Amino acid sequence: MPKVNRGKALWNVPARGRGTCPICLATRIKLLYTRTTSHGEQMKVCKRCSAAASHKVDEAYLSNLPLPFRRKHKKLLPHVRT
Ligand SMILES: [Zn+2]
Repeated sequence: MPKVNRGKALWNVPARGRGTCPICLATRIKLLYTRTTSHGEQMKVCKRCSAAASHKVDEAYLSNLPLPFRRKHKKLLPHVRT
């Protein structure tokens, strides 16, 4: 079975599969898991958030604040695990 989430397989993925997770706001983490909101929008999240509660996915999707701002003010956001 090929390792789709490890090694050279990631080199062809945009940004090599990494970025800021919209749910836990961790930076440079691998975003290889897809979560769907209750309205059907798809979002790439990290491994830790692949099992996050669906209300957290919805809150992260609906937040219109930019990711760096949300990361900086993480403590003010109720849905982010600190
Ligand atoms: Zn995450």
